[in-house]
Amino acid sequence: MDTGTRKILAVGAHPDDVEFMCSGTLFLLRRLGYEVHVATLGNGDCGTAEHSREEISRIRRREAVSACQVLGAVHNCADLSDLTIFNDDATNRRTTALLRGIDPWMVLTHPPADYLADHETTSLLVRNACFYGPVRNYDTSSFGPAPATSRIPYLFYAQPLGGADMFGRRVIPEFYVDISDCLEQKEMMLASHESQRAWLRAHHGVDEYLDSMRRWSQELGREASRAAGRPMACAEAFRQHRGHAYPEDNILAHLLPDRVILEPRYQ
Ligand SMILES: [Zn+2]
Repeated sequence: MDTGTRKILAVGAHPDDVEFMCSGTLFLLRRLGYEVHVATLGNGDCGTAEHSREEISRIRRREAVSACQVLGAVHNCADLSDLTIFNDDATNRRTTALLRGIDPWMVLTHPPADYLADHETTSLLVRNACFYGPVRNYDTSSFGPAPATSRIPYLFYAQPLGGADMFGRRVIPEFYVDISDCLEQKEMMLASHESQRAWLRAHHGVDEYLDSMRRWSQELGREASRAAGRPMACAEAFRQHRGHAYPEDNILAHLLPDRVILEPRYQ
């Protein structure tokens, strides 16, 4: 497999979303030699109870860059404000420009239904950008000079945080990825977001930021264990976008054959 020219991009609405959703899988792909990019559409300017928007977005950009250094990934930010990520013409062009600047071969992002509208809209914007990127007459020049992308990339949706949709119904993933030996790295990456960790620690009195990630990874590990018929400590889980023109083969199962467990109920 040509790892040199095939870039992998994970996009979250806010700094730290990618860490929760899929950073274990990204560590596995880095081990295979792939160039990994992490992008956030929002700048994290509402993730505080003490700083101004400008201060917290500066702090969170620094934290996001540190987190990417743990992974060995390139950091990108579309610099939108939190809670104002909308599916409008300008934001579609901005998101497409971001993809064009990277030209990814594979993209991971939020699922279409999640607990927060910013996450759902990011999912749709990323899905659109994957399709719009190669369309030469789609003009994104006001957000930079990047040329059209060379292809529609593979697109995977992570599980909604907590595993349920807005009605509280459990979302059944298509497959799991065994990240049992990546949990420590995932924790290190997440711990780079010190402002969020401190905020939750002050509020809950415990290290809820890292604890919640561990609980969630272990819960998916239990689901993966049931699907695999063997014990697995931690997992992440995904569904693949297979709409018209998107690559349909499960490339993650091909790249990580010993790690990917298909969910029988999804078949
Ligand atoms: Zn978020």
